[in-house]
Amino acid sequence: MSLAEEMDTVTAASAGTVDRHATTETFESTDPASGAVVGVFPVHDAAAVRETVERARPAASRWGLLGYDGRKQRLAAYRGYLARRMHELADLVHRENGKPHADAILEITLAIDHLAWAANHARKVLGPRKVHAGMLAANHAAYLEYQPMGVVGVIGPWNYPVFTPMGSIAYALSAGNAVVFKPSEHTPAIGAWLAAAWRAAVPDAADAFQVVTGFGDTGSALCRAGVDKLAFTGSAPTGRKVMAACAENLVPVLMELGGKDAMIVDDDADVAAAADAAVWGAMSNAGQTCIGIERVYATEKVYDAFVAEVQKKVEGLRPGSDDEAAYGPMTMASQADVVQRHLDDAAAKGGRTLAGGTIENGFIAPTVLVDVPETSDAVREETFGPTLTIAKVRDAEQALELTNDSAHGLGGSVYSKSKDRAMDLARRMRSGMTSINSVLTFASVPSLPFGGVGNSGFGRIHGEDGLKEFTRAKAITRQRVPLPVNLMSFGRPAQAADALARVMGLVHGRHR
Ligand code: NDP
Repeated sequence: MSLAEEMDTVTAASAGTVDRHATTETFESTDPASGAVVGVFPVHDAAAVRETVERARPAASRWGLLGYDGRKQRLAAYRGYLARRMHELADLVHRENGKPHADAILEITLAIDHLAWAANHARKVLGPRKVHAGMLAANHAAYLEYQPMGVVGVIGPWNYPVFTPMGSIAYALSAGNAVVFKPSEHTPAIGAWLAAAWRAAVPDAADAFQVVTGFGDTGSALCRAGVDKLAFTGSAPTGRKVMAACAENLVPVLMELGGKDAMIVDDDADVAAAADAAVWGAMSNAGQTCIGIERVYATEKVYDAFVAEVQKKVEGLRPGSDDEAAYGPMTMASQADVVQRHLDDAAAKGGRTLAGGTIENGFIAPTVLVDVPETSDAVREETFGPTLTIAKVRDAEQALELTNDSAHGLGGSVYSKSKDRAMDLARRMRSGMTSINSVLTFASVPSLPFGGVGNSGFGRIHGEDGLKEFTRAKAITRQRVPLPVNLMSFGRPAQAADALARVMGLVHGRHR
């Protein structure tokens, strides 16, 4: 089926949902470069969202009963479907989000890899196992397993509209849950495409993954629709609202929020490689990357060489929507205002613009700032544009101090040829993830957890932690043989507690 036909199907599928729920309001998603309409989607109201979650509940039970093998087989069919239609989905991502087709392919590739890892490792990570019962329950067998929670609500952003939500969707489904996904109002066509693809690839569990579309109110309704967990990816201000809505029914939340990631360039770094990575980390996807590099701290020994390399690299970069463009427009026009505010504030406080600094029709030139005080918005707040601040520091220790002096703590990067030194800096960096001698690599390793500290959120997607995030740990004990003396009985002998105290004294009392 062609893209046009696929989109017709997707839009028709969404329209079908409108009829089903008698919701009449619709909204358009548009191409950020041309303004052309990409699709028309229903605004699901609270009743429609609740109905979708109610339909997901029996689907979750059936999905759970399929077991690890049944789910693995169906998740494989889904990723096969995505892999075969990669260009089609990438075209849609290019049109609705604005990023270059090649970047969309990279994003979809990562999502497929995570789908494979989550489905293939679910049994090993979550399946039933026997654990040591310990001294006090030596006559019992002890079992642990991780059970699905039921229906997981996923609310996602627009910047990586496939990869980011899939970090929750793939892991929640693999763990045995059904999912109701609310994509951003800026990328509903991609969300609807992903759900239509699921229905086509896994028809016997079609309702295990559904989509609802709309604005913030639809997301808010999802929080209150009876979901068993809510996985949110987006900004900290919206995250607070999501937590407040979920708190009404004690719905547990996963918060994947924004970042202000730094790169540390140490004395012995490969400066050219660090500059290349910093420019990619800062400018790709027009800087709209939660784990994008927004600040660099380079030691005084390498600062001049690093700045010169960065300037050389950005000279060859140009935003646009053609095939040669390095990155596209801002997906959300209002984000350009945030970038402008940060540039103005940096300039007012004495910062110098070494490259770029211009914004035209939503396209922001690659921008490099130096001498920007640490108190400026461009250093303290998430900019989310193709900008980079570079600061000169005495040494890597000072770089680490400034890196860690941030409300955010999502990812980060260290450049150093000394393995021990780099590992030490990475360990002490206040962030959930750090790449040494590269940027963003941790996101492409499915066995590594992904998530932040501080204002960057809590909870983890990806890896074993990402699977466990969407489960409840279930503990079971089974008495194998009764003991002659039962301490948890009113019939226990009077001297039993003294005997227990003597045993504890022998086993633990010698430790000082
Ligand atoms: P927002 O916080 O604006 O929106 C995120 C999602 O929440 C959207 O689907 C939005 O819907 C929805 N939403 C808005 N209001 C509410 C509400 N009251 N209740 C429930 N849901 C609501 O973030 P952006 O979409 O602008 O995404 C960019 C942000 O996401 C950046 O801060 C970025 O760093 C962060 N991010 C974090 C990642 C991580 O893994 N840590 C990964 C990717 C991005 P609508 O769009 O319809 O308003």
